[in-house]
Amino acid sequence: MNKLFAFTAIAAAALSVHAQDFPGSKPISIVVPFAAGGPTDRVARDLAEALRKPLGGGSIVVDNVPGAGSSIGAAKVARANPDGYTLLLNHIGMSTIPTLVRNVPFKVESDFEYLGIVNDVPMTLIAKPQMAANNYKELTAWIAANKGKINLGNAGIGSASHLCGLLYQTAMKTEMTPVPYKGTAPAITDLIGGQIDLLCDQTTNTSPQIEAKKVKPYAVTTSKRLTTPLLKDLPTLQEEGLKGFEVTIWHGLYAPKGTPPAVTKKLNDALKVALKDPEFIKKQEGLGAVVAADGRVEPEGHKKFVAAEIAKWSPIIKAAGVYAD
Ligand code: ASP
Repeated sequence: MNKLFAFTAIAAAALSVHAQDFPGSKPISIVVPFAAGGPTDRVARDLAEALRKPLGGGSIVVDNVPGAGSSIGAAKVARANPDGYTLLLNHIGMSTIPTLVRNVPFKVESDFEYLGIVNDVPMTLIAKPQMAANNYKELTAWIAANKGKINLGNAGIGSASHLCGLLYQTAMKTEMTPVPYKGTAPAITDLIGGQIDLLCDQTTNTSPQIEAKKVKPYAVTTSKRLTTPLLKDLPTLQEEGLKGFEVTIWHGLYAPKGTPPAVTKKLNDALKVALKDPEFIKKQEGLGAVVAADGRVEPEGHKKFVAAEIAKWSPIIKAAGVYAD
């Protein structure tokens, strides 16, 4: 018994020495549960850059673990060693997956330490470049004329594009064929190639393609028009008659449950520095994102916000009858 107590005390002491030295020279890995080159990946890579200095200048790598609408990557972090070296950057899926997907392989509320919200990102409804419609009204006429033949891309069950697409189809009373990808980076590649017709995706992914005229933009999913010069002329879906349609994506940073408080504090302190980094803010704003600057950047604020988002989305998803099997 005494021996066990001594061992536990030594282990705890070792952990706190380790926490003091965190992160030292060991690289930190940020798991992105979607394919490289997409919007969640974009946020993670910009954030990794901004976190480097406040975390002592060591290496911070992005590890793409895509699949199952973010469940695979999130589950990997939930089961990772809780030492602060494996983090998760995920989006609104953390609050919609528990309702959209049955048998989620992790518990959003209890498997993670919440480190802070990073940003809010609007979504855009975009189409393949071959689409003849020149504005949203013409797009709705095309949708009406092509019922049963429309392919709508998404990043897997439970992803933001899946949620947005399901809500859009429900609002339009039109069934479209869902085409799942491991992220919206490969989905947008196929959209550009004309293999799929429509996609709802974050501005952090669609802005460069809209600017390059490789895809056709029709509307934004926010309740107000955006102010970004590139996107300010796009109507909101509400303006176009879809009453109450509002989807805004947010991203948050997480560590596995049980990560020592001294380590989560260092990570949250570094995150708050990164969120004020002018370079990070400039990059994100250029892509239509708004960097978080409110109580959600604190772990408790982040956790409360996710709980509120679960409470908000669960009845909407159930009422729309859009959850997946
Ligand atoms: N935008 C994607 C989604 O629909 C995720 C991604 O590829 O980052 O959830």
